[in-house]
Amino acid sequence: MKMKAAVLDGVGSKFEVREVDLDKPKTGELLVKVAASGLCASDLNAVDGKRKLVPFPAVIGHEAAGVVVEVGADTAGFTVGDHVIMSIVPNCGTCDYCQSGRPNYCSTAGNAMSVGGLFDGTSRLSQNGEKLNHFLTVASFAEYVVVPASGAVVIPKEMPLDRAALISCAVLTGYGAVMNTAKVKAGSRVAVFGCGGVGLNIVQGARMAGATTIIAVDVTDEKLELARTVGATHTINASTSDPVAEVKKIYGGVDYAFEALGRESTIQQAWGTVDVDGGLILVGLLKNGATLTLDAGPFVNEQYIKGCYFGSANLKKDVPELVKSYLNGHLFLDELISERIGLEGLNLAFDRLRAGEGARNVLVFD
Ligand SMILES: [Zn+2]
Ligand SMILES: [Zn+2]
Repeated sequence: MKMKAAVLDGVGSKFEVREVDLDKPKTGELLVKVAASGLCASDLNAVDGKRKLVPFPAVIGHEAAGVVVEVGADTAGFTVGDHVIMSIVPNCGTCDYCQSGRPNYCSTAGNAMSVGGLFDGTSRLSQNGEKLNHFLTVASFAEYVVVPASGAVVIPKEMPLDRAALISCAVLTGYGAVMNTAKVKAGSRVAVFGCGGVGLNIVQGARMAGATTIIAVDVTDEKLELARTVGATHTINASTSDPVAEVKKIYGGVDYAFEALGRESTIQQAWGTVDVDGGLILVGLLKNGATLTLDAGPFVNEQYIKGCYFGSANLKKDVPELVKSYLNGHLFLDELISERIGLEGLNLAFDRLRAGEGARNVLVFD
């Protein structure tokens, strides 16, 4: 079928809206009409080349929700008309990682992503007969996508699709970092460095986990204000004060410090706020090949550092819980959408994301 997609020809180039071809779904795949796709830092990392995530030319976008319009063979549990969120953690079920209960590290999915394809390594996307690459098996800056069914989760129809899109990456990552990766305990002290889409969801995850002190750190007052809305009890503008000294002043230090920017300087600051027996959770993705220099002193106090991939999410468990939390008013998503744009608005919206403005820009289709 023919459809419109925003094609990116290479690192640093601009999105161009073009008519492209999308093949039918194969075994284990779904054809989904995209309703919404959030603009995430991982998309920006691909655009700017901070991380090598996909061969070019490519259709990127990965924080998506939509409506199933066709199902391939072996897609039990999905029917035409289902509303779904689509994630970057599909799993084959048979590789060593899947077999050992770590489907988020599925090597079949990893290999597919590295060649810009789906599970069989091939692409369903092309333009004038030339292959276009799928970004992280989602490629949702387009009117339609073909995705592996194992990365999709059916959601109830009363869940608005633009807000559901946020769940598929920013929320799963931030909330998951708190609940699954760090396992934040009620009554604890939390600091969050970086209050973009993921950071704000770490803040609200901490609120939902029952943390009593939630300190949000960012360099823009607008984001700190949003952090308060979703659950921060204290905010620190790091452009005008030293966040390490401020955090120590508030409660002596924290039990969990989350870094959501992927920058050495903020990781060092976050590490500096961790109290005895506390941990630093690295949620922001660092540039490929990056190294870190950290003060080794705190290790004697049993302080620890933990990595985090996609909030250690369990799709089948976390997505229904998060949808329920939104519908009953505990999870705030309306507040996180700063702007809704069309395909033509992607370039400007990425400029805003790069400048650190707003919370989440979301691409929406009528
Ligand atoms: Zn993302
Ligand atoms: Zn696998």
